[in-house]
Amino acid sequence: MILHQLELGPMQNFVYLVGCPQTREAVVVDPGWEPERIQEALEEKDLKLKGILATHYHFDHVNGIEGLLKKSDVPVYVNEHDAFALKKFEPNLKKVHGEDTLQIGTVTIRFLHTPGHTPGSQCFRVEDSLVSGDTLFINYCGRCDLPGGSTEEMFRSLSKLRQLDNEIILYPGHNYADTPTATLGEQKKGNPYFKCESLPLFLKAMGDGWSGNWS
Ligand SMILES: [Zn+2]
Repeated sequence: MILHQLELGPMQNFVYLVGCPQTREAVVVDPGWEPERIQEALEEKDLKLKGILATHYHFDHVNGIEGLLKKSDVPVYVNEHDAFALKKFEPNLKKVHGEDTLQIGTVTIRFLHTPGHTPGSQCFRVEDSLVSGDTLFINYCGRCDLPGGSTEEMFRSLSKLRQLDNEIILYPGHNYADTPTATLGEQKKGNPYFKCESLPLFLKAMGDGWSGNWS
């Protein structure tokens, strides 16, 4: 389950502690900033760090990895298509593929490959939650104009996420909305990018409304 949501750094990044409330084993998702504060949160909650997961390679999601690795020699899970940018974490780097799973105590984390923001962007399905990185935000989607981005791939990735149940709770990569979480059902209705059911509609939404002010 999602054990903790921290907002860190100057870009309103969300960092998540995900794991098993019984065994107290956990992974950190997107430790972009202030590894010492993440370490404190792990200790306060009596959690054992078992791994680090990156939704994608951008610096605001991976800056804190080095600091965490100094304390804990754990694997860093990154999608195979973004691994090229994170070679400095070898030998801890573990390349994952879409549909891979990771077991943390009693909790199963499912890796979903969702390219579009970067070639190796991935979301994590954890029980009734979806940790979405910079693929899907509350009321927005990630930008596609950075190196390796693709509007068409983003549309396909969002279409895949649209198949998931309405009850699933979305945990985005940045705090860009007036609420830190939302259900996928709410987003299917209210998110002008997520609700597009055809590529032409999506391209129009991206062209009309996208201001480029977010990550
Ligand atoms: Zn990003």
